[in-house]
Amino acid sequence: MNYLSTRGDRAPRGFSDILLEGLAPDGGLYLPDHYPAVDRARLARWRALYRGGAAGGYADLAFEILSLYIGDIAPAELRALVDKTYTAATYGSDAITPLRQLEPGLYIQALSNGPTLAFKDMAMQLLGQLFEYELARRGEHLNILGATSGDTGSAAEYAMRGKRGVHVFMLSPNGRMSPFQQAQMYSLVDANIHNIAIDGVFDDCQDIVKAVSNDLDFKRRWKIGTVNSINWARLLAQVVYYFAGYFQATADDGQPVSFAVPSGNFGNVCAGHVARMMGLPIAQLVVATNENDVLDEFFRSGRYRVRGSAETYETSSPSMDISKASNFERFVFDLLGRDAARTAQLFGPGLARDGGFTLAADDRARIAGFGFVSGKSSHADRLATIRDTWNRHQDMIDTHTADGLMVARQYLQPGVPMVVLETALPVKFAATIREALGCDPLRPAALQGIEDRPKRVTVMPADARQVMDYIAANAQG
Ligand SMILES: *Cc1c(COP(=O)(O)O)cnc(C)c1O
Repeated sequence: MNYLSTRGDRAPRGFSDILLEGLAPDGGLYLPDHYPAVDRARLARWRALYRGGAAGGYADLAFEILSLYIGDIAPAELRALVDKTYTAATYGSDAITPLRQLEPGLYIQALSNGPTLAFKDMAMQLLGQLFEYELARRGEHLNILGATSGDTGSAAEYAMRGKRGVHVFMLSPNGRMSPFQQAQMYSLVDANIHNIAIDGVFDDCQDIVKAVSNDLDFKRRWKIGTVNSINWARLLAQVVYYFAGYFQATADDGQPVSFAVPSGNFGNVCAGHVARMMGLPIAQLVVATNENDVLDEFFRSGRYRVRGSAETYETSSPSMDISKASNFERFVFDLLGRDAARTAQLFGPGLARDGGFTLAADDRARIAGFGFVSGKSSHADRLATIRDTWNRHQDMIDTHTADGLMVARQYLQPGVPMVVLETALPVKFAATIREALGCDPLRPAALQGIEDRPKRVTVMPADARQVMDYIAANAQG
């Protein structure tokens, strides 16, 4: 399998060539040169593999799917990496992403039982294994630099902790994450994990990452890399749980299923798109946004409009507070029949100049053929959905999952099971749970008292120079 750029670069690259990369050199995103087709016979075989009852069914399934896209890691070695990643010890159950029924035909699939209690663990844990493997193979090392306001940073740290060849420098806004999130990140005391709390807001952290990354000499000297959501390996890892969800929600392989996906950067639901392109019988991909409705606006009107910071709202589902959807270009490339020249026109310099684009009517008409529909929710909707789900089903869901469930209900179809992806556990967003239910969220036993553990964090002013000095003093290489 080779990979190409959505903006036209077709220099042949294998999986390992793009694993440690961000954007393609032409500014596009990497995609496989085709989607391997999964026919009925293969689907039946995978179902048996996953549902075989033995522990490790998820890892078996993951190995099958990843093998179709990874041609340059020997099967036995890929098998070992996958087996180390998808264990009941890490994800709390053999199902890894267990499905539970809310009502007949309406299900929740838990993607949030990994170490940081958010769905980003599903991919990031695999990325940690792949990075360590690939860096060792090349005899190289990498210093990962990132900014986080919560989920991404902690998922990256828990995936990379103790991994050889990798250091993580994660900037977070000092005192601005929930006490639980701060405790989750800052209580990691591994030598290769460096928490840097910046006196400022998330945007200050992001500006520093940009400033450091734009200093090409520094970047090269210190082998600075990232783990952001446009990384193809992350997306690929996420494809697996759509198949796992499908097998749990159905008894036979012709049955269509819909998925409702709380969306921000379009990474999660883009993996659903890939699964559908491979032939998984997905009826609808329901894109659920919060008040930051870039994606909902697009699917309703054909207009993609990037928001400025004044129009990007802080909401109670903060992991979906985005101004543009960084993976969205991948879907538009497929929608346009993989026309790289037109994709480059829409997403290249024109996007920065015009702040967006509107699809032509005939392009828009093709969206339905890809299964996409959308909706948005407000803070009041989330509170009502959390309350209703608790009162009627004694099921406590987090704010992001509430966005998904609220929108899912608008698209229920008779005879088509609807699977809502649970992207975080409620304990991460305790303040909103208290507002909705008047009680504290449930907390997994392993995380009792996490706020009282010793912390390892360095506080710094919002000054890129000081961050660079810190990296130079602590980085590998
Ligand atoms: C990251 C995240 C999302 C959004 O996922 P995208 O891939 O960016 O669309 C939704 N919910 C939670 C809890 C997240 O951490």
